[in-house]
Amino acid sequence: MIVTIYTLFPNLVEPYLQEAILARAIHEGKLTVQIRDLRRFAGNASGRVDDAPYGGGAGMVIRPDVVTAALNEVTQDEPPPNETVLLTPAGERATQRTMEDLATQTHICLVAGRYEGFDARAESRFDRHLSIGDYVLMGGELPALVVLEAVARLLPGVLGDEDSHRHDSFSTGLLDHPQYTRPAVFEGEAVPDVLTSGHHANVAQWRRRTALERTAKVRPDLIDPKKLTPDERAWLTALQHNNNEDDA
Ligand code: SAM
Repeated sequence: MIVTIYTLFPNLVEPYLQEAILARAIHEGKLTVQIRDLRRFAGNASGRVDDAPYGGGAGMVIRPDVVTAALNEVTQDEPPPNETVLLTPAGERATQRTMEDLATQTHICLVAGRYEGFDARAESRFDRHLSIGDYVLMGGELPALVVLEAVARLLPGVLGDEDSHRHDSFSTGLLDHPQYTRPAVFEGEAVPDVLTSGHHANVAQWRRRTALERTAKVRPDLIDPKKLTPDERAWLTALQHNNNEDDA
């Protein structure tokens, strides 16, 4: 897969690719990342890409010709991007499903903004507008890296254990279950017995139920009762009933 990132600050993005799993994936050719400087399309010696907003007001806006030139350039790539993605707080909010969708593409192009963002006429040229959450950052570099990393870990061979992302939060439709490692007792708190029992079915049931419990408590909006077994629905109802009694 190829991921092309256009940014006004390539030096913010590049170091992140030089460590850990992303660096290995790139080194092993499982992923190609192209970082490109948007300022090349400034069209002036000073490298200025922004201008004042029509209608007045604070901040500056990135000119449409700059972004359009970048999109025209990347379209000439072989293969061209299947998806061009504008990073903006005003976009659809990214979820694990979005990342799964992007991970099926052969080439995605991510464009990171700065200042007040982009001229609306350039925004309309993108396939997708993506927000990484309901807060505003200073620039699109971190959002681009968030998308890159979330997508990269879904690509075949990138994670050491092929199966590990399938059990992660959201991929299962629930948050992940609690995890434990050595020592067996830490500051007086022991690992749950079931995890040291060697009984695989009980471990699986414990993991599923603790995931369900955690999700019901923290992110009840994620739970789709249709995706639970009748046993799990009954267990969850009993748990919620007990919790309500405890609260009363
Ligand atoms: N005026 C814009 C607004 O209120 O929607 C905010 C612009 S922000 C200061 C500058 C750039 O940061 C944006 O063009 C975008 O690329 C990036 N950015 C900031 N927050 C983001 C978020 N939550 N998701 C994706 N991109 C974001």
